[in-house]
Amino acid sequence: MLQLISDRTSASVAERDDTTPQLYFQRCRWCGTAMYQRLLCTGCGSTDLEAERSAGEGVLCVHRNVTAGADRWPVRMAEGFVVRCRVLGTRDAVRPGVRVRLAGEAEAGAEPVVEPCDIPEPPPWSY
Ligand SMILES: [Zn+2]
Repeated sequence: MLQLISDRTSASVAERDDTTPQLYFQRCRWCGTAMYQRLLCTGCGSTDLEAERSAGEGVLCVHRNVTAGADRWPVRMAEGFVVRCRVLGTRDAVRPGVRVRLAGEAEAGAEPVVEPCDIPEPPPWSY
């Protein structure tokens, strides 16, 4: 029983190790608008959308829906689309305007995971 559980845990850790985080979005072939998980273009309504891979960098937007969870933030990616992400990092480092990069791949039905690019240096004194 115990052996079964530990085997499963070590297997899932090994699978995660060598995956480069990837985030795909859609770009409209007609007007070039970038968007995330849409069926229609948000700019012109076209269904002619092409999947593109994001460079994985963005900026945290203002957090409006607090009930969704304190670590869920809308992120405006460099390509111009906004995606709700789970943000890693301390409360101090996570605020609107902070630059973030992709830290983990979105599992099916889950948000992509990002982390702040510039993690503040810890103070030279200890608490
Ligand atoms: Zn369009």
